[in-house]
Amino acid sequence: MSSLTEMREGLHVSVSQIKCYLRCPRQYQFRYVLGAEPEFIPANLVLGSAVHEGLAAYYRSVMATGDSPEQDVCKAAFYGTLVGFRKNKLPIKDGEGIEAQGEALLKVFYETVYQDPPQVVGVEVPFTIELPDPTTGEILEEALVGALDLVVREEEKHVVGEHKTAAKKWSKDQIKNDGQLSAYKLVARKLGLGEVGLRLQVLTKTKKPKMIVENTDRTDRDEREFLETVVGVLRAIDAQVFFPIRNGMCGGCAFQRRCSST
Ligand code: SF4
Repeated sequence: MSSLTEMREGLHVSVSQIKCYLRCPRQYQFRYVLGAEPEFIPANLVLGSAVHEGLAAYYRSVMATGDSPEQDVCKAAFYGTLVGFRKNKLPIKDGEGIEAQGEALLKVFYETVYQDPPQVVGVEVPFTIELPDPTTGEILEEALVGALDLVVREEEKHVVGEHKTAAKKWSKDQIKNDGQLSAYKLVARKLGLGEVGLRLQVLTKTKKPKMIVENTDRTDRDEREFLETVVGVLRAIDAQVFFPIRNGMCGGCAFQRRCSST
């Protein structure tokens, strides 16, 4: 199987690129069209990535041995990722306390899962799939590229898991409408995993961190709407539609200075 890096060599789009455009088309332009250097790395991104690696290390070990490893396996992957970010020439904005926060999240994750490890089939499973225009049936030039965080086997079917760190519990609407899970349902079928279940594992960065596990599903309509969104965003990008969306998130935007001067 090709690596994610190899898959990204062709014309492609990812779910995070689509989400970036939907949050703010101007930010998308800075990041993906102009390739502008960000002013900093947001602490949320660093924490989320490092915790993500901690969880991936746990599940890789479970896949290899069938049993839970020591918690240190998660911590080593977390700190390895953190050190990589700290070596970057870009500063981490509001990065104090990432270590303590990360350890607290990994602890609650580990305490939730270690006694009953799942049957892990894949971790960070790379994919590249063709995307059909849902109206015309034509295959788009861009492939959808990414990686499934986790695939487990439960009874008669596969379940695809997505890990998140979040400021608070996801709302019902977020769980029901998140485009990433619609994409995963579509991807899993194309990878031959059949009609999979979908699961969100949300680690909340609340005073007392929690791990909230939500099982969800997507209908044919959800998958179609995801494709409609992708087609709409790609058309807007082709037409160079890059307007700014100014809101409360601008303070955390890594292109804010550049954006203010354009
Ligand atoms: S500062 Fe605000 S409007 Fe400008 S690119 Fe960033 S998010 Fe968009």
